[in-house]
Amino acid sequence: MRLYTEPVASKRQIQVGGVPIGGGAPVVVQTMTKTETADLTATMDQIRRVAEAGADIVRVAVPREKDVEALKTIVADSPIPVIADIHFNYTLALKALDAGAHCVRLNPGNIGGPDKVALVTQRANELGTPLRIGVNSGSLPAHLRELEFENPVEALVTAAVEFVELMERLDFTNFKVSMKSTSVPNTIASNRLLSERIPYPLHLGITEAGTKWSGSLKSAVGLGTLLADGIGDTIRISLSTFHAEEEVKVAWEILKALKLRERGPVLIACPTCGRLQFDMDSVVAEVERRLEAYEDPIEVSVLGCAVNGIGEARHADFGITGAKDAGALYSKGKMIRKVKTENLVDELFVEIDKYYAAGKKVLRDVNAAAEAEQWLAENEDATAMTPERMAAMENAAVALDEETSPVAGRRFTRA
Ligand code: SF4
Repeated sequence: MRLYTEPVASKRQIQVGGVPIGGGAPVVVQTMTKTETADLTATMDQIRRVAEAGADIVRVAVPREKDVEALKTIVADSPIPVIADIHFNYTLALKALDAGAHCVRLNPGNIGGPDKVALVTQRANELGTPLRIGVNSGSLPAHLRELEFENPVEALVTAAVEFVELMERLDFTNFKVSMKSTSVPNTIASNRLLSERIPYPLHLGITEAGTKWSGSLKSAVGLGTLLADGIGDTIRISLSTFHAEEEVKVAWEILKALKLRERGPVLIACPTCGRLQFDMDSVVAEVERRLEAYEDPIEVSVLGCAVNGIGEARHADFGITGAKDAGALYSKGKMIRKVKTENLVDELFVEIDKYYAAGKKVLRDVNAAAEAEQWLAENEDATAMTPERMAAMENAAVALDEETSPVAGRRFTRA
């Protein structure tokens, strides 16, 4: 379901434990556990948390024999498919396949030569298990080092294509490809190039993206750009946090923002300005926290004041706004009722729960709604230059320009 462009990547599809990746399937959210894999209690706790947060598949590091042992139990108990992250030890790759991993990630460039890769692909073929083959900017094959210096994007793509050709020579096509770089522009450029050269599903990520704040932004820019182009079939957000579920939440926000997938409510909040009538930071945080309990993709809006009326939030299924000593609840651009400012959040959730209890119907008391409309009319200042009104004026000016311009109707298109 790509809404922005035709899909350009991954004509092929693979199945990771029954989850389709590529070939037009919805973009798959994955993350990686941060626990020692052999610590079964901690690992399974984290897997359950990420699954609850919306991870479609999860990856676990398998650097030791004891991790392979634990993998058997993890695969059996996990609510979502499990990828074993191997990198360079082919015997561990073979053991992970035999332990029942739904996919194994390895780097053909440092696993000990094509004959070792062949052993792994042969076993994976026998079991019908897909592989993820990876290229990292930090570990390119020696013969590409010079090219990496001159043209890091071409070096990454060349390495990936060489690995793909190796897999095809080994008669193995059940794989996806990842090309990781710490550079956002290089990640974008290399994946664009690779998507034109190979038909296999692409895993997107920014290596060592950083903290929750900077890593989320880098990922949103890098992965968001590619996804908006129709490139990328599964994503992982790498954040420096022990809480892997945070990575999943960020991944979902990116997919929701691009309208590639839906999960849970969408929260809209005004940017606030000097007209703000309540403690927006804590109100928005509280609304966001309580919305996590809902799975339906309802849209909820929080406006800091009523000076604009509620026109800006007319698409919202529910919303709240504040004025000097009171606030109001609204739905789809129409008032529901007036409430005390300190009760705004509680009453918002009363209305949301009533809506679901009534089979997704907004229940409106005509008198209470009329009182709220009256209150809003008294508090609205039709002459105030608010951020929303300035934006509306700018949009109107652009529309007028376009109508009167000699190149009216022309839009930028990607060459
Ligand atoms: S004018 Fe707009 S941005 Fe300012 S507080 Fe009111 S709704 Fe928020």
